[in-house]
Amino acid sequence: MQQDTIYPPVTLITVDAPMSPSVHGGRAKCLQRLIRLEMPVPTTVALSFDAVRGIAQGQMPDLKQVLAPFGPDPLLSVRPSSEDPDWGGPGAILNIGMTDARHAEMCARMGEAEATAIYLRFIQSYAVHVARLDPEVFDIPEHPTGANLRVALDAYEYEMDEAFPQDPACQLAEVLRSMARAWDGTSARLLRQAKGAPANAGLGLVVQAMALGVGPGECGSGVIQFIDEATGGQRIKGRYLAQSQGREALGAGTGAMFLTRDPRGPSVEETQPEVFEALTRFGEICRTRLREEMQIEFTIEDGKIAILDAVRVPRSSRAAVRVAVALADDGIIAREEAVMRVDPAALSEMLHRQVDPTAPRDRITSGIAASPGAASGRIVFTANDAQASAARSEPCVLVRWETSPEDIRGMHAAQAVLTMRGGITSHAAVIGRGLGLPCVVGASDLTIDRKKKRLIAPDGRSFAEGDVITVDGTSGDILAGEAPMIEAALDEEFRALLAWADEFRDIGVRANADTPADAQTARNFKAQGIGLCRTEHMFFEGDRLVVMREMIFADSQTERRAVLDRLLPMQRADFAALFEIMQGKPVCIRLFDPPLHEFLPVDKAGMRDLAEQLGLALADVNARVEALSEYNPMLGMRGVRLGLTYPEIYDMQARAIFEATVEASASGAPVVPEIMIPLVSAMREVEIVKTRIDAVAAAVKAETGAEFDYRLGVMVETPRACLRAADIAEHAAFLSFGTNDLTQMTYGLSRDDAGRFMSAYVKAHVYEEDPFHTLDIDGVGELLSMAAERGRAGRPEVILSVCGEHGGSRSAIDFCRKQGFDYVSCSPFRVPLARLSAAQLAIADRLELNIS
Ligand code: PEP
Ligand code: MG
Repeated sequence: MQQDTIYPPVTLITVDAPMSPSVHGGRAKCLQRLIRLEMPVPTTVALSFDAVRGIAQGQMPDLKQVLAPFGPDPLLSVRPSSEDPDWGGPGAILNIGMTDARHAEMCARMGEAEATAIYLRFIQSYAVHVARLDPEVFDIPEHPTGANLRVALDAYEYEMDEAFPQDPACQLAEVLRSMARAWDGTSARLLRQAKGAPANAGLGLVVQAMALGVGPGECGSGVIQFIDEATGGQRIKGRYLAQSQGREALGAGTGAMFLTRDPRGPSVEETQPEVFEALTRFGEICRTRLREEMQIEFTIEDGKIAILDAVRVPRSSRAAVRVAVALADDGIIAREEAVMRVDPAALSEMLHRQVDPTAPRDRITSGIAASPGAASGRIVFTANDAQASAARSEPCVLVRWETSPEDIRGMHAAQAVLTMRGGITSHAAVIGRGLGLPCVVGASDLTIDRKKKRLIAPDGRSFAEGDVITVDGTSGDILAGEAPMIEAALDEEFRALLAWADEFRDIGVRANADTPADAQTARNFKAQGIGLCRTEHMFFEGDRLVVMREMIFADSQTERRAVLDRLLPMQRADFAALFEIMQGKPVCIRLFDPPLHEFLPVDKAGMRDLAEQLGLALADVNARVEALSEYNPMLGMRGVRLGLTYPEIYDMQARAIFEATVEASASGAPVVPEIMIPLVSAMREVEIVKTRIDAVAAAVKAETGAEFDYRLGVMVETPRACLRAADIAEHAAFLSFGTNDLTQMTYGLSRDDAGRFMSAYVKAHVYEEDPFHTLDIDGVGELLSMAAERGRAGRPEVILSVCGEHGGSRSAIDFCRKQGFDYVSCSPFRVPLARLSAAQLAIADRLELNIS
């Protein structure tokens, strides 16, 4: 009610009329800005969201008031004006006010063909969009003759049982009503909600005097923009079509004229230099005064320009970054605003690895390239298996006939998705792009043998579940094995934007990186260090897996020591490589935390392989696997429990870390390694490990004569470690929260098995989200804040961080900032997103905006 007093339902847009995007929509507000910038905008009236809601419910505003500014013979257009232009709205309707009388008058003034063409176009759009008649009946005829006009009017009368309306006010009322109702339609609502519109989003409408674009003299219409929407580079683009209306020029193909000089045909720049000059001037004014790259819709009527509308140029993610940076570089917006303008999720499109184009390709087949980037992983055929694979940190490719919403969590967990069915707008393709997940769809010459769990290629080759393939979502190729990749290249603007983000950011961002390749990616993305190096992952591959298994299978300390002697140089080289790549930045190395089942063979063939590798009888291997197998491996002989039971394992790792420290510090920046103890639940575990590691450090110092520092910390991932954080922190320089295990143990929810019922749980709103994806602020978050408080009580300067998979998400970063944590650590590809999100949260905090 109060809003109605400030903002009446009907507003003539003038320089100082009270208007707001949240009342009249973005288009109406933008038109007012254009008027303020003295652009030649035809007379326009705005209807508020409330007015349009009223229209949908049958309460038409005073049409006399709406029509008054347009004079006695109005010819009008109506366009939608939602709060955010991305939320869409019904299509524009032009030429409202065309009647038999108006047609006769225009025939005399501008020529019969032109006037008839306009009338026919109006009848067509009115019949189809307002009266909802069959579009086929109202196809626009090729020749705008009087006879064709009669046919259209008769067809309307035949279908509607009444003559085509001849009163402009009545035409306008019907147009307004149909547009207001269309906004309430189910598909319109779903579409805008998918783009983030609130359920009660309003629609405004703008009623504007037609600037005809058709008639005597130079007449036409066109669209101009000043950037390339794909790259964001400065470039004048658009088309102009003589004797046309609306956006016809864009659909006219070769019939339309270029704007700038072009060898392919005539241009506005050459044929109408003053118009071209004025348009470029308007573009520049929009850029500097509206502080945005706008696409301008214009008409020429007898040589005179009218600006009908200006919208933000729709653009790719790369262009969004480039435009934001260019506007800031030109002093048009502040750097802070440039940082706020880019959606962190959009960055992911720019961040993908690609298959090395110079490497040989073992192509299995190809399908539709549906989401860019490439990834390799083991084949899994169900979403549950994808989640289980992710829980084991084993990269996988989800292979399905087609995907459905049931599969979303599996898609989240997979490195890439491959489907046999579907096209570029299929579920897999849309979701894949949304997640920034490499995706190939419609690879129809592949078949899945469900029973045998195999993927059959057109040449007869067959791939079992667990075999590694590569999905190249950029080319559409599916390749056998793990293809060599090249890392995503960051362009200059991307780097600039993130460098600015770093200036505003107030929480550190590190990467979880296990291999030199990961570390290199982390470094390229300017991670401030490695927050988690899972050392057992260094042993997942080929020959090394054998050595790891030998260690696990050793049944005496002597045997284990012998294997550890072989592991030592491997680990030393691994750590030296990480230190070298990170150039003095902190590297946090987690001591072994192998849930043993991840390293044991699961089937007969695996057992046989292992027997061969270890030179043991199959029966012996069977017996040992049995002896080692646990009912609950995730709660079994893992982490520090392994370290305490077989202390020589952690001794070896500590030695490898310190020797690598000495080596890397001698040739590069000094290294201060961080050593992290996993799965701690009692202070005494930390004390015991610390004593041994201190002894190893002293021994390495004595042997090498080198001095170095190191920090010992604890991975807090059991509820008890949270509860006892004060004691634990007394022995730990840092506490890093492993929110994966902590979520598992807080909920009593298996990381490997939750996929089976998670969808049902989320659907029933038992959990609002899968807590392994979205940090559970209410429960796990409470443990974190309590542990942080207790940890600080035990050691005020203790460094706090999160290194579980949640670390890169905006909501987790928001939480960590509020708790005063020092950094988050996330997978290398999420580092840029995390840097940007963290900066946006800090800026929003300062500006008191709510964006979390
Ligand atoms: C965790 O538990 O959160 C964690 C980071 O460690 P992992 O996933 O290796 O168990
Ligand atoms: Mg863990």
